[in-house]
Amino acid sequence: MEKQNIKEIIKRDLVILGSGPAGLSAALYAARANLEPLVLTGMTLHGQASTTAMIENYPGFPDGVGGVELGQLFQTQAERFGAEIEMDEATSVDLNHNPMLLETYGKMYKVKSLIITTGATPRKLEVPGEKELVGKGVSYCGTCDGWFFKDKDIVVVGGGDCALEEGLFLTRFAKSVTVIHRRDELRAGAILQQRAFSNPKISFIWDTVVTEIKGDESVNGMELKNVKTGEETTHETDGVFIFIGHTPNSDIFKGQLELDEQGYIKVNQHMETSVPGVFAAGEICDPYFRQVITSAGMGAAAAIQATRYLEELEEMA
Ligand code: NAP
Repeated sequence: MEKQNIKEIIKRDLVILGSGPAGLSAALYAARANLEPLVLTGMTLHGQASTTAMIENYPGFPDGVGGVELGQLFQTQAERFGAEIEMDEATSVDLNHNPMLLETYGKMYKVKSLIITTGATPRKLEVPGEKELVGKGVSYCGTCDGWFFKDKDIVVVGGGDCALEEGLFLTRFAKSVTVIHRRDELRAGAILQQRAFSNPKISFIWDTVVTEIKGDESVNGMELKNVKTGEETTHETDGVFIFIGHTPNSDIFKGQLELDEQGYIKVNQHMETSVPGVFAAGEICDPYFRQVITSAGMGAAAAIQATRYLEELEEMA
């Protein structure tokens, strides 16, 4: 008889999807409520915050704290109270009944309550050469890849906080960092703007979009277009770091939870989604604030609400 891939079904009261600031804060609060939460980390352990070199606006760390270090501290604190952290990812969910069904690469879970903190993924430029040259000069993470660009001339695309923060970080390695922005005004906050304008390694190309990234073995240049004059130019560079916003990781919830037009999960002020027992927190439901502290706060709120939901469920049983 053919061997079938039957997954063991594991029952859990509360599963948290994602291990960024929202997920691990939810885990801390749920663990302290004795819910023994299971955190499925997703592919980016400790979330996007862990790819930031230095976080300077999370309270309690007056000298700043490294993104990796902060993620590890969140995890240690949640584990201290009994949260279980597992390197796995939900591949499909069925939220139509309670207990809900949750499938991962290796397991199947029946869960009474779910907190979704799956965050968002860096947006792509969607131009020729981008996909082909990822890892060969195209990058979405300065902290991860900056070291490879020692004494090189590189480009940062975008005009938001991430572009400038990462651009500034990249000046530690690169000979020059050219920020290419599609408008003549930055979206980034004033302090980051000041730092970028006063950094001698950083220069700007305004009103310009990238139309192609070029290179064979690795990036060696890009085609640019000035959106005001229409002028097309070639710009030589050794690397392209792209920071143009994010797309929410909500694909597996489509058709089961209410999403907004950009794909973010809709929640009310209690972090409740359109399905009872399912909560969301952090960047998966927040295209607006996207800070470590706001995500952590939402995670805590979601866990408090999940605790109340599970108590009510028990009372009704
Ligand atoms: P963002 O604020 O949405 O900025 C994205 C930038 O990319 C914008 O300048 C945008 O141009 C540009 N852009 C978008 N699509 C583009 C395209 N197809 N081609 C070229 N350029 C494009 O995103 P973010 O910088 O990733 O930041 C996300 C959130 O995290 C923000 O709320 C930010 O404040 C927050 N954040 C905060 C900190 C901090 O406080 N230290 C650090 C990092 C991030 P336009 O300006 O023309 O729209």
